[in-house]
Amino acid sequence: MLSTAKRIVIKIGSSLIIGDSNEARKNWLVSLASDIAELKKSGKEIIVVTSGAVALGRKPLGYGLRQLVLEEKQAAAACGQITLFSLWAETLKTVGLSSAQILLTADDSINRKRYLNARNTLETLLENPAIVPIINENDTVATAELRFGDNDRLAARVAQMAGADLLILFSDIDGLYDADPRTNKNAKFQEKITEITPDIEKMAGGAGSLVGTGGMATKIAAAKIATNAGCNMIIAKGIDDHPLKALADGGRSTIFLAKENPLSARKHWIAGTLYSAGTITIDSGAAKALHSGKSLLPAGVTNVTGMFDRGDAVIIQDSEGKRLGRGLISYDAEDAKRIIGKKSAEIEQILGFKRRDVLIHRDDMVLE
Ligand code: GLU
Repeated sequence: MLSTAKRIVIKIGSSLIIGDSNEARKNWLVSLASDIAELKKSGKEIIVVTSGAVALGRKPLGYGLRQLVLEEKQAAAACGQITLFSLWAETLKTVGLSSAQILLTADDSINRKRYLNARNTLETLLENPAIVPIINENDTVATAELRFGDNDRLAARVAQMAGADLLILFSDIDGLYDADPRTNKNAKFQEKITEITPDIEKMAGGAGSLVGTGGMATKIAAAKIATNAGCNMIIAKGIDDHPLKALADGGRSTIFLAKENPLSARKHWIAGTLYSAGTITIDSGAAKALHSGKSLLPAGVTNVTGMFDRGDAVIIQDSEGKRLGRGLISYDAEDAKRIIGKKSAEIEQILGFKRRDVLIHRDDMVLE
């Protein structure tokens, strides 16, 4: 699974970043960074979602290991975030990689504009093979109601946002069991989950919990988000050095299989968008090109109506008004109107900037 995935989100739990002595596990992090560098050399795109800010912020604030209330967690995150990201930046540097910091809130995956901006930033960063985007929740501003609170679900949202094909949750648990392995010798390890049934949720410690293993419930919640978005998910123990290499070498893990691939999940989502903000009329040459699997270029568009933002769903129709399909448009209405009928090479000159050569990319389009 690791060998076939192209875009991978890796989530690192706090217990891996911080050891028992409450110090950062620097050597381990170096081993992980060298695994990441290896994967990137083979052409994979890697995004890291890291926990550890709250844990690293306890010390400067003198909190010890006691339970923290929300404000204290937020204060600890503010202190620890600097240490956490410096740690990542320094470590990745040792293997020739640079890092980029992204702090997200749950709101950023709900609010459309912010979602699109975050997605575009990620895409832009991933175009550069020397960069690893490092993501955490923006704990200090996330309000109690709008807080992920755990990075498992945040990582799943990131995987969805980035159209990743694999999400790996590294933690201190090696996977899912049908009972608590600490108290039940007969607990059976679950290697592959094809569907998240109520029984599986029970194993994770939901209502009528069998296990109640701390952290498994949020992992199952993450699996639901990821697999519905066409992303496979793996839970594996990450505590030993070179956790990615161990996984690639066949190390133990639980795999949750995606319901479909990310592209068809995306296309289903586009097909199911009820709301369309505009209509794009295209000429017969463009219609032919779309039916042969090509993207829609501005040159083939004869008219644009409606008010839409970049990333909105629009209807595509032919010159007779027959509906051909729908897609997510790369330019907002005002800009789209200025570039229709023009060659893609002219976009930059007309608008003063260029996003994409295409008005609607074929991966963002569903024909009827
Ligand atoms: N965002 C929190 C942190 O950096 C971690 C949340 C979690 O443990 O999943 O400490």
